[in-house]
Amino acid sequence: MSKDKDRSAQMDKIVALCKRKGFIFQNSEIYGGQNGFWDYGPLGVELKRNVREAWWQDMVNMHDPLDAPEGAPDKFQMTGVETSIIMHPQVWKASGHFDLFSDMMQTCRQCKKLFRADHVWEMIEESEWFQSLAKECGVAFGTQLATIDSAAILQWAKAKKQGRRLAPGLAVVRNPEVTLSWLAEHQQSQPNQPLSAVDLLRYLATEQKNQTGLQTPCPNCGGDLTEPRHFNLMFETHTGALQSDDNKAFLRPETAQGIFVNFKNVVDSSRVKIPFGVAQIGKSFRNEITPRNFTFRSREFEQMEIEFFCHPDTSPQWYKYWRDRRFAWYTSLGIGNERLTLRDHDADELSHYSVGTADIEYQFPFMAEGEFGELEGIAHRGDFDLRSHMEGKLQAKDGKLEVQLDEHGQPKWRGSGKDLTYFDDQAKERFTPHVIEPSAGADRATLAFICEAYYEDEQPDDKGNMQSRTVMRFHPRLAPIKVAVLPLIKKAGMPEKAKELFRNLKSAGIAAQYDEQSAIGRRYRRQDEIGTPWCVTIDGQTVEEDNTVTLRDRDSLEQVRLPMDEVVNEISNRLRST
Ligand code: ATP
Repeated sequence: MSKDKDRSAQMDKIVALCKRKGFIFQNSEIYGGQNGFWDYGPLGVELKRNVREAWWQDMVNMHDPLDAPEGAPDKFQMTGVETSIIMHPQVWKASGHFDLFSDMMQTCRQCKKLFRADHVWEMIEESEWFQSLAKECGVAFGTQLATIDSAAILQWAKAKKQGRRLAPGLAVVRNPEVTLSWLAEHQQSQPNQPLSAVDLLRYLATEQKNQTGLQTPCPNCGGDLTEPRHFNLMFETHTGALQSDDNKAFLRPETAQGIFVNFKNVVDSSRVKIPFGVAQIGKSFRNEITPRNFTFRSREFEQMEIEFFCHPDTSPQWYKYWRDRRFAWYTSLGIGNERLTLRDHDADELSHYSVGTADIEYQFPFMAEGEFGELEGIAHRGDFDLRSHMEGKLQAKDGKLEVQLDEHGQPKWRGSGKDLTYFDDQAKERFTPHVIEPSAGADRATLAFICEAYYEDEQPDDKGNMQSRTVMRFHPRLAPIKVAVLPLIKKAGMPEKAKELFRNLKSAGIAAQYDEQSAIGRRYRRQDEIGTPWCVTIDGQTVEEDNTVTLRDRDSLEQVRLPMDEVVNEISNRLRST
């Protein structure tokens, strides 16, 4: 099996485990599902809460404002807000989302499906028809070359047959003569010029039109895609009883704007001094054209964002600090360095406002070998946001935002009209703060932790036979259940002891599970599969001799004996020290 097939098989197993064990369910499943929306089940909700909690604790609650943390240019304060999903519509005009928050979209003329233009080729490569054609043509996509010879013509005929079944929109199916004559023409005009596999496959898929080059086929049916056009990703709604343009509102596509519009409120109410950061966790909504890859690209998702306000002169140092610090956060929670990368955006990738942006990316199993998906973006946004909310209306021109000026050269319309500059009373300086924004997705992080945790090995069962075992090796801080309490058998006073310990753990605030059903080996495996780091077993020795229990470690499988009344402390200590 190729590495990519292994990876996609692994992803299928992860998705199946998520459903089987109650981590993630398809939204509205009994009605056939709602594309781009997901529900977290009993274990998933705990896992995701732990991800959010770890982020909030590490970024806000446990932050020490009295000393500069390692690597930071200075000490700083951290605080938080929780702002609403629907905001004044003008917020989105000033931020640029109203004019520019769009993806390029293409529609299939045959099957009418919509695709995000920059995802089309990726989706084509993943499609059944493309893979089948690639196989028929005997070429691996992008790696080998096919020449136009009789073999190619034969392949063309096979492709036509396959295409009819898998992708009725393909040109080779709709218009075989044109395709064949093009192949013959190509052979005549460039007899020594091999045809690349990509071109051959593209051509088998669509007709060449008006000499403009090869068209992009539809990932679904192989048909013709329209030219790319803009599609705004914001979900629209209306406030109040009437549905008119006057009361149109938007579900926020990011949590950040809630922080910017409250900048003055935070400064005035909490005595923070620059540099400081404001954190927020909350839902965001984007009407993604092609939601896919499980929860990775959803239409409703949760973000964990920090807007860090600093002096323009020191902003490059803060940018570097946050890039490194956020990368280290993922590794501290168990993501392997080899599957995580910090990628600086090239100049042409930068948003119109961005001075510098880096993405933290993870090698998800649903991606091809060597490809990574974004977990978090860290952007140096300069003073763009605060300035836009001061200056007001911006208009899109040539893909950039510009302030609309009146005949006197003044901004035509002042946004909030409020002064969002900052006065440093020690330096006696007024300036518009620069912003560093580490913006993470709670669902993508949760998915990365799930993928990273998934592990298979073999262990002996109760009878000593080797059995395959699936283990979710969650970092203990993230594990939905921290400890399982298991009486060895359902009698001889063991359940009573076990229940006592279970209740003590619960009262100490430790997520514990009690399980007395089935053989002990099977119970261990059940806990391994949901990622419980520790199991405590109450046996005959506990009841009859010395009140000690065994504590089993999920990863090392090591078992130690300790007095039952030390278990709560031991687990609390282990949780604190991980
Ligand atoms: P992408 O390029 O993948 O569309 P983005 O660069 O538009 O993402 P940002 O606007 O920087 O994403 O949003 C910050 C974070 O929010 C992302 O790093 C990601 O973790 C999360 N996020 C963004 N869009 C989605 C989505 N559709 N589904 C789940 N999480 C998302």
